[in-house]
Amino acid sequence: MAAEAPRVHYSHELPTTADVVIVGGGVVGCATLFFAVRAGLRAVLVERRPALATLTTPVSTGAFRLQFDNPEEIELVREGVELFDAFEERTGLTGWDLALRRQGYLFASLTEASSERARRLVVRQHDWGLTDVELLSGDEARYRFPYLSTDVLGARYRAGDGWLDPKRLARGLAAAASDARQLPGAQAGGVGVVCTGVEVIGVRSGAVETTRGEVAAPAIVLATGPFLARTAALAGLVVRLAPTRRQKLVLPDVPEVPPDAPMTIDEETAAHWRPALRGGFALWTEAGTDPSEPLDDVPATAAWAHGLLDPASDHALARVAPFWSDVWERGTTSWYGQAGQYEYTPDRRPYIGPTAVPGVYLNGGYSGHGIMTSPGGSRQVVEMIVGRLDAATHPLRPDRPMEGRELDIL
Ligand SMILES: Cc1cc2nc3c(=O)[nH]c(=O)nc-3n(C[C@H](O)[C@H](O)[C@H](O)COP(=O)(O)OP(=O)(O)OC[C@H]3O[C@@H](n4cnc5c(N)ncnc54)[C@H](O)[C@@H]3O)c2cc1C
Repeated sequence: MAAEAPRVHYSHELPTTADVVIVGGGVVGCATLFFAVRAGLRAVLVERRPALATLTTPVSTGAFRLQFDNPEEIELVREGVELFDAFEERTGLTGWDLALRRQGYLFASLTEASSERARRLVVRQHDWGLTDVELLSGDEARYRFPYLSTDVLGARYRAGDGWLDPKRLARGLAAAASDARQLPGAQAGGVGVVCTGVEVIGVRSGAVETTRGEVAAPAIVLATGPFLARTAALAGLVVRLAPTRRQKLVLPDVPEVPPDAPMTIDEETAAHWRPALRGGFALWTEAGTDPSEPLDDVPATAAWAHGLLDPASDHALARVAPFWSDVWERGTTSWYGQAGQYEYTPDRRPYIGPTAVPGVYLNGGYSGHGIMTSPGGSRQVVEMIVGRLDAATHPLRPDRPMEGRELDIL
């Protein structure tokens, strides 16, 4: 008989006790479950929606880059990428395809000012040991990536950056953790239970109250994405979080997009795109969007899409890659928008660690980078729970000082 294809094993019964309860079943909750089971804990994940990875995680572009502006996040991404690279071996899920592509990240500059900023950042990245980030002149960049505009003055590029399918990542982590067979390298005793359609409506030290009854646990991890502040408030905690709409334009069939292109970013405007399907995904991290309440359904807008595609726009994709003008003029492409919310913290770095309520931990606020940084962050939260990592001195602990950091463009 053929072996059963790996899948998430859902439980219809909610346990009444656990070593750790994880609230939220996006990529962050699934990664926390995975590392908790590996550490030998009896872990229960509760998600209020009917399926895992259905809110912010599937809207994401699934991209990962070591080209960050601080060593802490570089290390988190490095750990994530190590897991992505060895996913089948680390999870025991033979044949689980993450759709991983390493096609690089290219930040292109059209002004001297942004070229200079890029140069300074690359010097710092080299100082942090990230020595494979290249600084390219405009001509070098065009030689490697002929679709670039003659206006591009220079670029920073790292070939090892890339992307994957974020939903397959989240579900793969949950599938591995919820399988009764032991995870490779796991400590004995680890069990992962996944319950969907269960909402957490109360949080206190030692227990969560849900729509299906109470679960007692010495450790509770809040991994509720844009809803993190609201869930933390159930425990009486005040968490600073600014859910902010971010959209993704899906262009399923655009032959002009080179399938082997890197993620290509306009260093001034933060408009960017990457190959996907038989076309691409395009995004723009606009600076002026106001935060809002956390939302279950985030509307996408046509005006936002036009701002990327219309060559007359001040943040048109065509500024860096002129073939996008042809796509606009041809006018035949079908496209649709998807939207979710970045879960911004004041310094745009995640909250990883315990709170003032004993046993209640935060794992969130990934500020738009949760696919790439949450495997590392989730492993660290679990290590804090089992006492192998000192939470009090952790640079991303929730009560760290947060003001005064120059912010990344994406
Ligand atoms: C357009 C866009 C592009 C992005 N691109 C990238 C990218 O390229 N690379 C990258 O690294 N990141 C990217 N991100 C960011 C990334 O998607 C997020 O950081 C990540 O998905 C957050 O995961 P999460 O598990 O915290 O949140 P979510 O996926 O939102 O999951 C949170 C879950 O908690 C559940 N929940 C909430 N309240 C409760 C409750 N009371 N009880 C039970 N369950 C509850 C929700 O239903 C939800 O399923 C992007 C985001 C957007 C919007």
